[in-house]
Amino acid sequence: MHAYAIQESRGLVKLDAMENPHRLSPDLRRQLGERLAEVALNRYPGARIDELRAALARHAKMPEGFSLMLGNGSDELISLVAMACDVPGASILAPLPGFVMYAMSAQLQGLKFIGVDLTPDFELDERAMLAAIEQHQPSVVYLAYPNNPTANLWDDAVIEKIVQAAPGLVVIDEAYQPFASRSYIDRVAKHEHVLLMRTMSKFGLAGVRIGYMMGPAALVAEIDKVRPPYNISVLNCEAALFALEHESVFAAQAQEIREERSRIQRELSRMPGVKAWPSDANMILVRVPDAARAFDGMKARGVLVKNVSRMHPLLANCLRLTVGTADENTQMLAALQASL
Ligand code: PMP
Repeated sequence: MHAYAIQESRGLVKLDAMENPHRLSPDLRRQLGERLAEVALNRYPGARIDELRAALARHAKMPEGFSLMLGNGSDELISLVAMACDVPGASILAPLPGFVMYAMSAQLQGLKFIGVDLTPDFELDERAMLAAIEQHQPSVVYLAYPNNPTANLWDDAVIEKIVQAAPGLVVIDEAYQPFASRSYIDRVAKHEHVLLMRTMSKFGLAGVRIGYMMGPAALVAEIDKVRPPYNISVLNCEAALFALEHESVFAAQAQEIREERSRIQRELSRMPGVKAWPSDANMILVRVPDAARAFDGMKARGVLVKNVSRMHPLLANCLRLTVGTADENTQMLAALQASL
């Protein structure tokens, strides 16, 4: 296997990793600096972590009777779920193409991973999903909602059938919730075996590494048993609390990103040879005549995107474009047009 590869991005317009392109204003950065200077670095993380859990529960409108655990990014939570479910014969199931960490966490933990192909238009293949669940009885089913890299939400009726059929946990991963038109949060409390995962990364704090998972308190308590003590740094915790106090700043950024996403979609629809799929996230999946050529051409013009062609046969000649600032997007569109 290979370690998770991060592309070299120095000097490039970085549109490869679904980061929020906006930094905080100089004034907010100064205020944050003052707050961080007060943090006691000599102490292990303590009560402020519980305050962050409470602030995130309010932010997410977490249902009553649920509890929330934190991870060093949702990547860590995905690893902890695999660890918590590691009993002989356990398996993890997810649709493909999907977020690579679901399969990687299974592999690292020595669990079986079952990938179920999406349909060619990237919808859940209801029959194949239900058949695979019936056959393999997975301990965990992951549904990224919206999905990465296809950027779409699933049919809600199909989700409910999967949830009904799943014999173990179902994790709904809402990493891209700030850009999505729907969330599972209103439905999650109907079930005792469904967990909802989110992250502050796409909200605007990818560098801060805070992921969170909400679910029925008794269930979250079981998974919390495998969490390393003190997994959240005091500095990360304080930065996250600060960001939540300025939620409206991030909400405005998400709104701008959604508007830019619409503009990019309009421009892409006018580019001959380019097919773009609808998006509920801060990324757009496109198919071009030759993805390697387009990727290299864009990079030579100073724009880094992700070539996902080799991830899965359904993604042949596909690139994943992260939505950036208006200027970055204009540059990206020109680079794509010139590189087809
Ligand atoms: N879930 C999905 C669907 C993702 O695409 C990503 C990151 N790209 C993550 C989780 C992990 O996010 P983080 O570890 O930054 O919270």
